[in-house]
Amino acid sequence: MIAPTLTSGSSTAEDAAPVTAPRQRRARADAALVAAVELAREAVVAQTEGDDVGEHQGHVVEGERLLTHRFACTRRGYGGWHWEVTLARAPRQKVVTVDEVVLVPGEGAIVAPEWLPYRERLQPGDLSPGDLLPVPDEDPRLVPCWSYGDDPLDSDDRAQVREVAGDLGLGRVRTLSREGRDAAAERWYDGDGGPASPLAKAAPASCGSCGFLVRLAGPLAGTFGVCANGDANDDGRVVSLDHGCGAHSEASLGKRAQPQPLPDHVWDTLSQDDLERF
Ligand code: SF4
Repeated sequence: MIAPTLTSGSSTAEDAAPVTAPRQRRARADAALVAAVELAREAVVAQTEGDDVGEHQGHVVEGERLLTHRFACTRRGYGGWHWEVTLARAPRQKVVTVDEVVLVPGEGAIVAPEWLPYRERLQPGDLSPGDLLPVPDEDPRLVPCWSYGDDPLDSDDRAQVREVAGDLGLGRVRTLSREGRDAAAERWYDGDGGPASPLAKAAPASCGSCGFLVRLAGPLAGTFGVCANGDANDDGRVVSLDHGCGAHSEASLGKRAQPQPLPDHVWDTLSQDDLERF
């Protein structure tokens, strides 16, 4: 029988022993700092109107001779917030000093939403008349139709090149890239003009067979058109060919929903005098 051989690279039980990190000494609460509640309260009062400071809510040991006292905040509109006062004491000194006073939100506190750059905050419909929303040169939704050449140009030179391009009829500087086109198609298809909208789900027929659909040209023509029915909710909007609505050009009412013919008029010969005689 061949016995397994330990090579020099094999691990031994000693090697496999878990490596433990050097144990860190937990800081102890400094008695002088724990007792300095009134000093901490005075520090908050000195920075506020005084009425804003509520009950003492305990302390947290931050480190060696470093401790934070917490007080409730009673300021209007600041429910769930609290004051924190950090105190410290130098080695071999009895004097307690105030490091900082801060107002911090606790659980359930009302806080401002996380900050977002304005470009990410903008939503369709946010632009007002006169607002400008410049599109960066490297926006992946666009590709150039023609270029300015390899030489770096200042803004005057670029304006001249644009003028020449206009004279030559080269058209727009940039056009939709495949990425920009796909993103738009996805947005439109998933939106109110797509097949999953409640209007489309209850429609008698789809836009593809509707006389009010204006066909598009170009790569999106196979999926989208524009609704031109002034009575429809989607008038003037892009709709997918499998969208639809009740204003479809060929929609008709079922027999039951048809207006019923009125019965013939009845000649009423009773007069007011006859009625009073009864
Ligand atoms: S009227 Fe309705 S079915 Fe016709 S194109 Fe417009 S949205 Fe589509």
